[in-house]
Formats: sequence, C-alpha cells, structure tokens
Amino acid sequence: MSEHSNELTAWDRDHFFHPSTHMGMHARGETPTRIIARGEGVYITDTNGRTSLDAFAGLYCVNVGYGRQKISDAIAAQAKNLAYYHAYVGHGTEASITLSNMIIDRAPKGMSRVYFGLSGSDANETNIKLIWYYNNILGRPEKKKIISRWRGYHGSGVMTGSLTGLELFHNLFDLPRAPILHTEAPYYFRRLDRSMSEEQFSQYCADKLEEMILAEGPDTIAAFIGEPILGTGGIVPPPDGYWQKIQAVLEKYDILLVADEVVTGFGRLGSMFGSDHYGIKPDLITIAKGLTSAYAPLSGSIVSHKMWQVLVEGSDKMGAIGHGWTYSAHPICAAAGVANLELVDELGLVENAGSTGAYFRAELTKAVAGHRHVGDVRGDGLMAAVEFVEDKDDRRFFDPSRKIGPQVSAALLERGVIGRAMPQGDILGFAPPLCLSREEADIVVKAAAAAIESVLGK
Ligand code: PMP
Repeated sequence: MSEHSNELTAWDRDHFFHPSTHMGMHARGETPTRIIARGEGVYITDTNGRTSLDAFAGLYCVNVGYGRQKISDAIAAQAKNLAYYHAYVGHGTEASITLSNMIIDRAPKGMSRVYFGLSGSDANETNIKLIWYYNNILGRPEKKKIISRWRGYHGSGVMTGSLTGLELFHNLFDLPRAPILHTEAPYYFRRLDRSMSEEQFSQYCADKLEEMILAEGPDTIAAFIGEPILGTGGIVPPPDGYWQKIQAVLEKYDILLVADEVVTGFGRLGSMFGSDHYGIKPDLITIAKGLTSAYAPLSGSIVSHKMWQVLVEGSDKMGAIGHGWTYSAHPICAAAGVANLELVDELGLVENAGSTGAYFRAELTKAVAGHRHVGDVRGDGLMAAVEFVEDKDDRRFFDPSRKIGPQVSAALLERGVIGRAMPQGDILGFAPPLCLSREEADIVVKAAAAAIESVLGK
C-alpha cells in the first residue's frame, strides 16, 4: 500500500462518517477500508490495484457500467457551458427539458409530468407530499394514511424511512411515524402456510391489505406504495397474480398506487419499467438510479395525468406549489441522464437485461440450487438472490448471529466478485450492470458456487 493510501485510510477512519456502516468497528480499524480508484465496464479497481467484478452495479445503479465516455463528455460539456441554473418559477435548461420528454416517452401509459429530485428518498418524500396535497385539493383531508409493505425499501428520510419496512432503518430512530402503515410482504418463500400456492398467497396478501383498509377506515387511506419486485428487502419477485389482486383492492377503495421503480426503472427487469413488466398501473412512479446510471445524482417523481389534473386545479385555487429543491433538475445531472438514456438504447441494454438475465439466473440455479443450505434461488431480469437456510426440508433459517450471508459475500469478494449480503436474512443478492455479458455471468456463477462451498461445505 502506498504512503498516500495509508494516509487516506487514517483520514477515513478519523473523519468520514459512512452510511450503513458499523461506526465503532470502522473507526477502530476492525473492518477494512476499501478505496475505489476507477471503474471500467463491469469492473472496479481499488488503490491497491485489486480488481473486482461488480455484480451489484454499485448499489444497483451503474446500469450502463463504468467508464462511459459519452456520459462523462456530456457532464463536462454541461459543466463548462452552464453548471447550474434553478428550475423554480418556470426556468429550465435544454438538458432538463429534453430529459423530461425522454422519460415520459419511455414511461408506462398515462404518465404526464416529471418532478426532479436528487435521490430516491427525496423523490418519495415528494410523492408523499403530492398525495397529501392531492387529497386536500379534493376536499378529503382525512384521506392521508399511506400503506407500505414489510421488507419494502423506499428511502432513509424521516417519512421515507418510515415507508421502508426494515427494522434496521427504524430502530433507535423513533420510526415509523404516523401516518405510515405496513402490510404483508409478498415473500412467497417465507409464507407461513406452506400449503398455499403462489396465487393463494397473493390472495392472502390482498385480503390482509383489505382487512387493514377496513380496520383503519377506507376514507383515511390515501395511497399504497410498493416496489414492483422487492429489492433491498431480499430481491423477491411478486408471486403469481399479486399485483392484479392488490390493484383490485386499491381501486375498490379509491386508493392511489405508487410504484417505486428506483431500482427497476430503465431496464433492470428486461422491460423499460417494472410496471409494464408486471401489469401495474401506477398513479406515481419513483425513479432514480438507472436514470443516470449514477454518473450524477438525479431522481424523479413521474405524475400521472389523473393526478396532474387535480394538482393544476390546486394551483389555480392556491397559487404556486410550495415544494422545491435547489438542485431539482440540476443541468449537469440532467445532461448525464440524457446521455445515459441514449446509451441504454444504443447498446440495447433493456433487451440484454432480459436475455442475459435469464441466462444468468438459469446458470446460477443450476450451479447452486442443489446445495443443502440453499433454500431458494430467485429473481427476474438482472436481479437475482440466493437465500440460505439451515435446514431445507423444514425451511429453518440460520441464527442471524452466524452472519452466513455476510460470510458468503466476503468469500465471493475473495474470489474477485462483488455480491451484496442483503440486510435482513441470509440472502446473497446480485444486480449487475445491464451490459453484463454471458462470459461475465459465467464468472459470477462460478465464484458464487465456490464461495458458498467455502462457507457452507459441499
Ligand atoms: N426506493 C428504492 C426502491 C430503493 O432501492 C432506494 C435505494 N436503494 C430508494 C428508494 C432510496 O434511494 P436513495 O438511496 O437514492 O435515497
């Protein structure tokens, strides 16, 4: 390690407060500091010269892969020409206006406008405010509660951390806050009654939702939010018929639907949007990660015609909307977004996510599903997960203190591949860049099988 690397490591331990990190262990040097220096394609390299195949695309966001000249050129040109101007009171830039048009062009039917933010969390924060504003305009001030799902992930803010259905994001933060409620996770592998078919389990989830709506009073429930496929909660595709049954309940009680497509937007499932993929008809869509492939921070709330018309009525009554971020539609981020979406088309990455994704998941299943401690291999498009169990027959899970998931992901890293130990349960997740080739998929599968064997035996 160079002297400068040692110095960086010391500064890191002393001054950098890392997100989602064990603070004490990191500060004491008990967990490694890895300083990432550069990236190219699906690979990243650290300051020690160690290269890893990033099969999680950062945090499932570097969809076009690392080192794309087209995007870095667009960012540089925009920074030179006009680094910033705000989007308040009708201001725009060529990049932000072009990008909003490109997004609506690609969005599911019925979508009208994009409100830009910087992160998935702030976009969901905007969604919550738009939902409340909408019901206030419609004269329904009681209709404010939002139902999310256990194991859903929607951000880390006060309200969006409340929407998130993972205890780690609630504990010691006094979350969740009212008026957020959580219903059943559509997690077929972990269903309590194992005699249920997927369709029956979907009906069970829809019934649980309806029960909650009736118990709370339908006039108090404003919206339901869900990721098309659960992401951070364990990479869990919806069971058969799930979204159809959930939507039938929402329609019955006039409840808005928010599709959180921060992970699935712009191709990850082999369709431009997860909503199209699973037949979801949302009133709002959250987008972030794949919008710029994380070359610059940018998110958005896509608003349907149905909601837009009401919002316009509101401003005709009450004036300009009192909601804005300084960096909303930041031109450098928007320029990155335009170049990124063009690249997604030019390289055929949506199609590749579908075809290479199917190949990757089939090979992964062949390689590891027979292992005595692998309970489930699942996924869709270029998202996959392997869930470990102590006993396969009675589906008994490992004691969390054994940290089987983190051990397997560490063993995978030793073999040159990055997967993610998902935060709740012993689950190894994959969400590689959408440009993954079959040869690269083979490398991931081989390393995953070897890593599992090294931790859990044959
Ligand atoms: N929604 C979903 C579905 C996510 O996966 C994430 C982040 N992983 C977020 C929202 C929050 O995004 P951010 O971290 O950019 O705030």
